[in-house]
Amino acid sequence: MKVIDHIKNAKDTLISFEILPPLKGRGIEALYDHLDPLMEYQPAFINVTYHRSEHIFKKKPDGSFKQVIVRKRPGTESICAAIMNKYNVDTVPHLICGGFSINETEDALINLDYLGIDNVLVLRGDAAKNETAFIPQPDGHKYASELLKQVVDLNNGVYLEEDLKNTRKTDFCIGVAGYPEKHFESPNMELDLAYLKQKVDNGAAYIVTQMFFDNAKYYAFVNACRSAGIQVPIVPGLKPVYTQKQLNVLPKTFHIDLPADLSKEMMKCRTNEDVEKVGTEWLLMQSKDLKKNGVPVLHYYTLGRPEIIANVVKEL
Ligand code: FAD
Repeated sequence: MKVIDHIKNAKDTLISFEILPPLKGRGIEALYDHLDPLMEYQPAFINVTYHRSEHIFKKKPDGSFKQVIVRKRPGTESICAAIMNKYNVDTVPHLICGGFSINETEDALINLDYLGIDNVLVLRGDAAKNETAFIPQPDGHKYASELLKQVVDLNNGVYLEEDLKNTRKTDFCIGVAGYPEKHFESPNMELDLAYLKQKVDNGAAYIVTQMFFDNAKYYAFVNACRSAGIQVPIVPGLKPVYTQKQLNVLPKTFHIDLPADLSKEMMKCRTNEDVEKVGTEWLLMQSKDLKKNGVPVLHYYTLGRPEIIANVVKEL
């Protein structure tokens, strides 16, 4: 079922989760162990992130280095199918521009269609680790809006081979990313929203936000979107904090702020357990407030700590 239909049919705020594919070599059981404690909370859908290949340097016995290309977390599409099969829940694979030519994108979409997957979250992806800015693949997409157009084309039965006749029209529900604290490359919020509107006008059915820790920023973002003419559901993305290190890592990695009240409480903690308690309480407070204000879905980035999410959702 499509995410947008889950949202339209819902009587109350829904729950959804986002997971990462397991590290190569670990097997899918690691993922099931992660998901098992969360499934009793009946998520409407589960997102699975996409991780492109990385160039890394490996030291050789003679002390010199060789560059190798590794993909640490492969398998997004097949993991989605496996989760649907095991838990009978809808899945949303993330699909990115980075590392894909348009032909490879089409193949990926055809595979998702064969697997019975109804949803995709289309994203640009970040710069590869060995690059300072995002560089599209030769014959690949530069922006999420271009990738989105390819999905819409396929939904209309338009494939890259123009002479194909009587083609199957796929029927993907397309989500896109939005940034309550602005995308870090964008010169200002106004322009960022204009490009977000372009994605919606081109066919995105809903938006999922980057994580935020101050609900006021989410509400301001929703208001700004509505003023800019963006009317689709805006799903808040939520993540727990559970280490003091994250106070610096999260802003650096995701270009977001942590509120002073939260950072002060975390700094006071003497043990990891205390930090986790503060982070869990903060997430619960955010979740309760968002639910009270009628958000369509609470979308949790579970990222290796399913028990924290389970505790929060249980309280809700
Ligand atoms: P875009 O919408 O293409 O925007 C990128 C930048 O370009 C923005 O600054 C925007 O304002 C600007 N822009 C957009 N269109 C135009 C245009 N036509 N002309 C000029 N400028 C333009 N990354 C992964 O690699 N894998 C994942 O699984 C993944 N999941 C994510 C899930 C969520 C909910 C979020 C919020 C992010 C996720 N990301 C993921 C990270 C994402 O790929 C990065 O944030 C990336 O830098 C931007 O992606 P986007 O789809 O928002 O890009």
